Amino acid sequence: MNSFEQHVARSKAHILFGKAIDVLEQLDGDCFPTVTSDDVRGHLLNILRTLRDPDLIGGADPVLLYQQAVQFQEYVSILAASSIEHISWPLVGYCDQIWEEHFGTDSPRVFYSTTQQNNYFLVKFSEKLKNQLITVLPKSQIQTLFDGKAFYCLQLASVEDENLPLYAIIGHEFGHALFHKNADEYEEVALQAYESQLAVSFQMSIQKHSGTPLLEDENTRIDKLLSRIYVKLATELFSDMVAALLMGPAYLLALHETGWGTRKNLFRVALSPNGNWLEAHPSHQFRQSCLHKTLDLDVFCSDLLKKKKNPELEKALGFLKESTTESEDDRVGVDSPENPDTAIIRHCLQENIVKVKESLQGTVIEFRKLHEKRHGGSNQSFSSDNIHALLERFSHHILPNIIPDGSPLGTPAEFADILNAAALERFEALEGCDLQKDDSQKRIGVVERLTAKALEVSFVQKEYLKWKKEDTAHGRTQ
Ligand SMILES: [Zn+2]
Repeated sequence: MNSFEQHVARSKAHILFGKAIDVLEQLDGDCFPTVTSDDVRGHLLNILRTLRDPDLIGGADPVLLYQQAVQFQEYVSILAASSIEHISWPLVGYCDQIWEEHFGTDSPRVFYSTTQQNNYFLVKFSEKLKNQLITVLPKSQIQTLFDGKAFYCLQLASVEDENLPLYAIIGHEFGHALFHKNADEYEEVALQAYESQLAVSFQMSIQKHSGTPLLEDENTRIDKLLSRIYVKLATELFSDMVAALLMGPAYLLALHETGWGTRKNLFRVALSPNGNWLEAHPSHQFRQSCLHKTLDLDVFCSDLLKKKKNPELEKALGFLKESTTESEDDRVGVDSPENPDTAIIRHCLQENIVKVKESLQGTVIEFRKLHEKRHGGSNQSFSSDNIHALLERFSHHILPNIIPDGSPLGTPAEFADILNAAALERFEALEGCDLQKDDSQKRIGVVERLTAKALEVSFVQKEYLKWKKEDTAHGRTQ
């Protein structure tokens, strides 16, 4: 590339960075669902101004700089999608409180955006950006720009933005972040279980299916892959456990919905050709049966039915229990034709699937002990008494935001209680829809509006009580 072309590339990058700055500056901060989005904007602007400054960017390759400018648009559009137009701010406000309880107020922090896909993703936003900048900025400069700042982005499914109970899936994504935070310790627990309960059985399977005896390094490679797959499977179950403790049965219903159209009995593994990258998910039915235990679902359902009997609720709870009963027909799919170990990995997992499941169940119990030790006896954050009280209000079309306690005002309901009552009420409404009369949208609309309002009112009420308490502590009165 001659100097003329280099100059053109450089100019294009400069203009694109400028445009990105304009877009970010024009975003309406009042539309951000939480304050973190505004901090991310400040952070991105800081980086863009550096990339646009000829004195600071000096020796960078103009073409790489141009590529950087193109890629940067993605970060800008993620932030632009962080808007209350599609994100329930009280709901993610509650999620922020949960985040702060587990991660503190410092770093890492999380902001919320949307995705067109019908799924939820937790993106290591700042880490991804940091790795990308390495082509154009020296490490020391990147270090200064980030200065300990770490942001996750939680992308929510925009097609279901009014289906608030579906937000319970955020709990699973938080679980991933918590696992990542203490990965060494959790991985150690999983690997110990693998070594003591599965390694020998896998060795026998490897010998049985490899035909000719394997070379030592081939054997080690397969064993290593299997152990990494096991850790990945355990990570998913850890994240489910965290979600269940934080969000309750609402998470189970949300998980169930997201599993529609997939094979419920399939353990899915994907490997890159050289095995450096891999993904592994337990089957939906196994995940749900683990959740049944974590949530003590039998007790929850019978407690709730003792207080409130109606056929729709009975059906909803019956469905919850039925969808989480243990099944025996799990299958293993390894979808990686270019990886040489695909067939043997599949054989090993399929042949030992019962043992793998048993071992994973034990590992989740160990995870829970560690998690509770670290975050205090994290008892379930919801109660069947409160959910019952809120369901009563729902059925009379009264805002489900207050638990009666004998006083004129009652107690503001907790986030998880509202979410779970809403999830059950929504399920009942869907189940009771008469498609001939076409009243479904109206009934669901009522549930959605009551839920959104209840979360908003209870959030504001709690913020007010917190502020009042702080003010009283400082000797001021209102
Ligand atoms: Zn996951």
